[in-house]
Amino acid sequence: MRTHYDALIIGAGIVGAACASELAQAGLHVAVVEQEIVGGGTTAAGMGHIVVMDGSLPELVLTSYSQQLWAELLAERPADHEHLACGTLWVAADAEELAEAQAKQARYSAHGIASRLVAAAELYALEPLLRPGLAGGLLVPSDSVIYPPRSAALLIERARNHGAQVISAAVCALRPSGVLLADGQTLTAEAVILAGGIRSQALAPELPLRAKQGHLAITERYPHIIRQQLVELGYIKSAHASSGDSVAFNVQPRPTGQLLIGSSRQFDRSERSVDQAMLAQMLRRAVEYMPALAQLTVIRAWTGLRPATPDGLPLIGPAWQRPGVWLATGHEGLGITTALGTAKLLAAQLLGHSAPIPAAPYLPARFDKETAHG
Ligand SMILES: Cc1cc2nc3c(=O)[nH]c(=O)nc-3n(C[C@H](O)[C@H](O)[C@H](O)COP(=O)(O)OP(=O)(O)OC[C@H]3O[C@@H](n4cnc5c(N)ncnc54)[C@H](O)[C@@H]3O)c2cc1C
Repeated sequence: MRTHYDALIIGAGIVGAACASELAQAGLHVAVVEQEIVGGGTTAAGMGHIVVMDGSLPELVLTSYSQQLWAELLAERPADHEHLACGTLWVAADAEELAEAQAKQARYSAHGIASRLVAAAELYALEPLLRPGLAGGLLVPSDSVIYPPRSAALLIERARNHGAQVISAAVCALRPSGVLLADGQTLTAEAVILAGGIRSQALAPELPLRAKQGHLAITERYPHIIRQQLVELGYIKSAHASSGDSVAFNVQPRPTGQLLIGSSRQFDRSERSVDQAMLAQMLRRAVEYMPALAQLTVIRAWTGLRPATPDGLPLIGPAWQRPGVWLATGHEGLGITTALGTAKLLAAQLLGHSAPIPAAPYLPARFDKETAHG
């Protein structure tokens, strides 16, 4: 085994896997160090919705750019990623939310993202099981669904095909120009990329990350109950809240015919156990929007920890005050979508190429207190 690499990536979640694939394809000698299994962290707990989100302009730019990259990748082997081109139907409960749907449509249109306002009659033609009395919605056909741990494994496979090495080990400390493994071995690299999700903080305690726990539940197989991923427009408020617990109606059709039901957000819960009260609240919300769900059988529920930054944007670029260390973490609830854009941005910075989208909003240095305070 080599002990010196051009790029050493800590973590084989979807973000580390995407970085490994990108950097190995660029011709770098890459190693990925993973302490558990590929795609087994928050990536395994996520919903796999490849979704354009417009909570802020940088979020819109990164999600839509990443979605284009997913479309290119998925075109090669869609079935292997368990891809479903289902689109998103944002559901407006009342006139106020319909106005929000209109504003969202205008923002999408300004950025070249196709979407269509849907009146109440068409809403029920598209999804007959939604509860009566809803106002309409916004259909975004380019959104889709994948199976995240599978996609992480495929990205790692691609990295391996380009010479990357996957090392099964825990990194216990960052060292100048390398890392210290739990077995005492040191690996060195020109660039160390920290892509450890919520666990990145154990190696770099200065990172401004908080865990936002989320629950999901999956049903038995009920093919064709819904056709689009259905999300209430109130989800956006829930997703961007910086405190408090919240739930939102968010239901995804799986290629297996199962339904994946989300979603919840709770701050600073570091354990993965299911909070029965929160799960019940989340399922009640789903049934409020789609009463027929009450008849279905849920076979499993689980949680995952979203790595959240204070401004809701990921950390992509050089770590402050840690020469040779680069960050690719803090993707909160959008890391499946934004992994591919993250990898492109990181590679451009590492290789000194021009960035495909403006890199500034995601640079970790925005949280460097010393720079910020002069
Ligand atoms: C309920 C829920 C639903 C979600 N739904 C979506 C969705 O629909 N769409 C979307 O885009 N995003 C979604 N997300 C967010 C998404 O899952 C995360 O943003 C993404 O998985 C983060 O990936 P990651 O690679 O950064 O972290 P992880 O997947 O956690 O991977 C980090 C890896 O690093 C390894 N690691 C950490 N420290 C070390 C160390 N010291 N040594 C060795 N290895 C180490 C870990 O073992 C792990 O495998 C959801 C999240 C949750 C919780």
